[in-house]
Amino acid sequence: MRKHHTFITETQLTSSAAIEEGIVPLRRQRTLISSVVCEGDGLHTARRVRLVLHPAPPFSGIVFLRTDTAPACMIQAAAAQVMGGYLATTLGRGGVTVSTVEHLLGALAGMEVDNVLVEIDGPEVPIRDGSAADFAALIGQAGIREQEALQPRMRVVHPISLREGDRWIAVRPAEVPSVTYAIAFDHPAVTPQRYRFHCGAEPFVREIAAARTFGFLRDVDRLRAQGYALGGSLENAIVIGERGILNAGGYRFPEELVRHKILDLLGDLALLGTPLVGEVTASRAGHDLHIRLVQALLQQPEAWVREGAAASAVQPERGLSPTAAFC
Ligand SMILES: [Zn+2]
Repeated sequence: MRKHHTFITETQLTSSAAIEEGIVPLRRQRTLISSVVCEGDGLHTARRVRLVLHPAPPFSGIVFLRTDTAPACMIQAAAAQVMGGYLATTLGRGGVTVSTVEHLLGALAGMEVDNVLVEIDGPEVPIRDGSAADFAALIGQAGIREQEALQPRMRVVHPISLREGDRWIAVRPAEVPSVTYAIAFDHPAVTPQRYRFHCGAEPFVREIAAARTFGFLRDVDRLRAQGYALGGSLENAIVIGERGILNAGGYRFPEELVRHKILDLLGDLALLGTPLVGEVTASRAGHDLHIRLVQALLQQPEAWVREGAAASAVQPERGLSPTAAFC
């Protein structure tokens, strides 16, 4: 890997004094080396789609491009585009949506890939095996390269917490990013689980990527009647019956359920558009509370400081797909 030294004076954080004080310098932005393709069915819609991940220029962020609409529609993975967060996170723009984005976004954020154009020819990201393992493998297959620009980050300086009954989520200042999650269900086959994840690309692949989404057998008929989980099966979700897990192979990790919640949370936090440095804790939360935390952070700029410069005069949509019209 070629070393770049020209950016060292660009920010105070990369000054030698800052490094001596133990402040972690900003890392460079990262994108894919090549484009990669995957196909699969949506969990809720059961629609088969083709997904292509392309490298993208610095400061693009993660951008979805629905290629099956006329005109093609670009949707930034950003809090402002969130249309729903009931059982999955849905992004939309101008009436066009992409749903169940959280496992793909979790894989990209978890592996610290900042700039990607996601081409998709349908309304829902494939569920694959219910985890982010295939997306992590796909990203590995594409390869990751560093870009010239440094990646800005949001450092939390004041705590924020949100509560809804016995469910809550919070963030507080910390030197390095981490996520701690706890779950407890009123269900005979699931004991409470808690897991702490120290963010980083390698730990993500090892500890979080393979944790599958899950549901309870007692909810399946109700969800299907509401039009959800139409593509759900034991191939793409853990299903828990009154006496335990129905999937033949059992759990992949002792705390697979809570590890999956961490994957969901990482994917939802990616909607900040900038990596977060802080300690996030959540208990019995879900997409709704994850998204509310993202919105609270964006609405309370006094709770964090931005480290690293924003791109000036960068128009991410330019250069991403010159032929696409924007809805
Ligand atoms: Zn999930």
